Amino acid sequence: MDRSIFDEDHEMFRDSVRSFMQKEIGPHAERWNKQGIVDREAFLKAGEMGLLCMWVPEEYGGIGMSDFRYEQIVMEETTRFGDPGVFFTLHSRLVAPYIGTFGTDEQKARWLPTCVSGENILAVAMTEPGAGSDLSGIRCKAEDNGDHFLLNGSKTFISNGILADIVVVAARTDATSKHGISLLVVERDMEGFERGSNMSKMGMKTQDTAELFFNNVRVPKENLLGEVNRGFYHMMHGLAEERLIVACGFMANAHAAFDATVEYVQERKLFGQFLADFQNTRFKLAEMRTELDVGYAFVDRCVEEHNKGKLTTEDAAKAKLWTSEMENRITDECVQLHGGNGFMTEYEVCRRHASARVSRIYAGSSEIMKEIIARSLGLDPRKKKA
Ligand SMILES: Cc1cc2nc3c(=O)[nH]c(=O)nc-3n(C[C@H](O)[C@H](O)[C@H](O)COP(=O)(O)OP(=O)(O)OC[C@H]3O[C@@H](n4cnc5c(N)ncnc54)[C@H](O)[C@@H]3O)c2cc1C
Repeated sequence: MDRSIFDEDHEMFRDSVRSFMQKEIGPHAERWNKQGIVDREAFLKAGEMGLLCMWVPEEYGGIGMSDFRYEQIVMEETTRFGDPGVFFTLHSRLVAPYIGTFGTDEQKARWLPTCVSGENILAVAMTEPGAGSDLSGIRCKAEDNGDHFLLNGSKTFISNGILADIVVVAARTDATSKHGISLLVVERDMEGFERGSNMSKMGMKTQDTAELFFNNVRVPKENLLGEVNRGFYHMMHGLAEERLIVACGFMANAHAAFDATVEYVQERKLFGQFLADFQNTRFKLAEMRTELDVGYAFVDRCVEEHNKGKLTTEDAAKAKLWTSEMENRITDECVQLHGGNGFMTEYEVCRRHASARVSRIYAGSSEIMKEIIARSLGLDPRKKKA
């Protein structure tokens, strides 16, 4: 089914992003997978192409692009023709908006231009060993010391954790309140800021994921983002967009695995016929294509709503929940249709399936998405009258 939300300008943009991914990103993916991290130059090249932080206003070096479809295209093309672990959109759309939305003019002028160019790479550090789905359990502590906060604690599973130059850190600034959290910007060379090793993962191997440690880091007050003790609410602010952007990536990963499988089954011969000629194969691929079309219809509709400023938290949660589960179903079937080859990392579907596994866990797990959707139905045990 044709997707109807894109016009000629979007399609031209898609062509240019696709050829960038095919030339500058895709050919390195194998090496980056092995080394567990992308080269910094990838960000610089994406910056040169104008693909990073497109929403940033011109005065801070961006192009002020408010149409989310362009970001959707970057996410789709990076995932399909680059690699699902190249996290340009985490940088552009999950972290930089904290600076754009809650930063002062001085903070925006200081950081945003280098985020647009890719000279500074961004990460966001919320999760801790004892606080993932339940962020109110954050223990990382920032003590008010007059002109600075004294930051102590650790974070885990941080994407871009090794590469990041600027990390937005969620830290507790009020021990008396569950939500007494603030957002602090920690910069690469701050004394006491250390990183653990690049964590070994099941999939998404190009993505550097790390533990971060803060030992008496003096974070100047000028690096507080937004209001003190309002960090929890600041974090909630961008969650619908975060879930939508990852949903766009899940669609693209499933789509790429599907394409690779359609090709494979027409080449693989067994029992005197092509794998594609078995009814089971044709039925499986028909089911997958239907799921992709259904998924695009819903996600594209969410993008339209988001462009109008009307995307609800529960619809973003539905998009994230359904696309991540669908991505896992499709990539799993693609591995099955590849037989033993599908289990070998040299095959694209193997890597895509392994990478898909985390989609149901991060950016809010499937169970948390279901909680959000159920609450929107008025089913909230926390509000039950005795
Ligand atoms: C590759 C990777 C990259 C990541 N990148 C980042 C990053 O850049 N920055 C960052 O801050 N974090 C990052 N994370 C952390 C990620 O957001 C968390 O892993 C996720 O929120 C889940 O938290 P947890 O791992 O502590 O699991 P837990 O919260 O311990 O969950 C364990 C299980 O309990 C279920 N569960 C939790 N709450 C409920 C509930 N109310 N009802 C029913 N079931 C429930 C969960 O769904 C899950 O199945 C990343 C994680 C991974 C794996």
